[in-house]
Amino acid sequence: MTDLTFDGRAFINGERIAARDGQTFDCISPVDGRLLTAVARCGEADIDAAVAAARAAFEDRRWSGMAPAQRKRVMIKFAEQLIAHADELALTETLDMGKPVKYARSVDVNSAANCIRWYGEAVDKVYDEIAPTPSTALALITREPVGVVGVIVPWNYPMIMAAWKIAPALAAGNSVVLKPSEKSPLTALRLAELALAAGIPPGVFNVVPGYGAEAGSPLALHMDVDCIAFTGSTRVGKQIHVMAGQSNLKRAWTELGGKSPNIVFADCPNLDKAVEAAVGSIFFNQGESCNAPSRLFVEASIKEAFLEKALKLVPQYQPGNPLEKSTVMGAIVDRTQLDTVLRYIESGRQEGAKLLAGGAVVEPVKGGLYVQPTVFDGVTNQMTIAREEIFGPVLSVLSFTDAADVVKQANSNIYGLQAAVWTRDINKAHGVARALRAGTVHVNSYDEDDITVPFGGFKQSGVGRDKSLHAFDKYTETKTTWIRIDSPV
Ligand code: NAD
Repeated sequence: MTDLTFDGRAFINGERIAARDGQTFDCISPVDGRLLTAVARCGEADIDAAVAAARAAFEDRRWSGMAPAQRKRVMIKFAEQLIAHADELALTETLDMGKPVKYARSVDVNSAANCIRWYGEAVDKVYDEIAPTPSTALALITREPVGVVGVIVPWNYPMIMAAWKIAPALAAGNSVVLKPSEKSPLTALRLAELALAAGIPPGVFNVVPGYGAEAGSPLALHMDVDCIAFTGSTRVGKQIHVMAGQSNLKRAWTELGGKSPNIVFADCPNLDKAVEAAVGSIFFNQGESCNAPSRLFVEASIKEAFLEKALKLVPQYQPGNPLEKSTVMGAIVDRTQLDTVLRYIESGRQEGAKLLAGGAVVEPVKGGLYVQPTVFDGVTNQMTIAREEIFGPVLSVLSFTDAADVVKQANSNIYGLQAAVWTRDINKAHGVARALRAGTVHVNSYDEDDITVPFGGFKQSGVGRDKSLHAFDKYTETKTTWIRIDSPV
């Protein structure tokens, strides 16, 4: 792997190509500050070219017209390509965005490949419907691909976030134009090459790296894009819906931010497990996870015991060199994000929360961007660190005494992505789970996940769901065909 080189050019119509105006931007590794490569800085002309290629591929039905069993075989080959290049993809992901290579390999590559394989396998197993009409008619309810799907993704799980959208979109027969984050564009470009090698025809899957305003906006505003599927911040997600409305009323699906509450009652069945999940889930991926349980509500009577155990675990998450196998917390994606995290830590201090652990920048690798796992106690739900998404390794600990009150506090936030409740009381578990306004509620666990279940949020955590068969709803149009039957018998 020492000879790993990167190609930052866009991928349009089955070919690597520089931006039309020749512009590039530097792709810098947060691991140690090294320059990885120059990446095509795509703009409107490149988006136009990619959308035109995607449209042409859709119109001539080179992909959507393929028999489902054949499309399935190609998708499964695509997944196999990821596994065949797993080490390269994992290393690229780590160097590009800073996560520990052991997770890039065991989680990111495997999960993206599994997602692509799962939707591939579904292609020839999903049936359409016939409506229960009177016998004078046959009403077919069929699904058709929407056409050209624009996909915009963030940097925290670059391959997985892309796979959650491109896999169901491609499986349904659409053409795709993917804009990866400017902070982590490299694996998306490789995915397009691997898709082509697997047999996805040129033009069906295009990748246009670039900045949000320069490449993302033209894609969301494009008059010939039928659907825009976005994962990222709530701030930009709102603009995506506006751009969809301002242009051609394309379908807009948004998977946005979170500030997930994790509620531990005194009758929690296993305190050690609850502590491990609370600490492990907030520090996984350097805290750069939309569903990180960043608000920990612990019942007052067990808070001291809980924190004592938690603080013993925190040192295990000290950041290290992401390229070392033993490292569990890596680098923060870039200087801007590191500064954001540090600003939030400072605001926690200023607003009166008690810093129990971390809070400082460290440098396990010279030139890299790292921050300690950080824990604040004495947080109130009104403080900035409890209200806003930090997207870094910062845990806010709050306490409560009353079930109704903690549910009210948990729901008192603009986000509603995930939540958890820990209790051995089945009535409390069900009652609280029902009352929590979140797309996923975990009971006596956190971060359970599977491709078979929908992922997405209530409220300002977005519109629509990734994963599971429900994702096909986003990338297909429903058509009704009435057939009149004037039966002679
Ligand atoms: P971001 O909103 O800054 O950027 C996301 C993507 O949008 C990037 O590709 C960016 O280039 C692009 N973009 C930025 N401005 C744009 C514009 N004006 N028009 C079109 N595109 C534009 O988010 P981020 O910092 O990359 O990612 C972090 C956010 O993503 C967090 O809020 C996190 O919670 C969220 N996220 C959500 C989920 C989920 O499934 N709900 C998953 C992962 C991340």
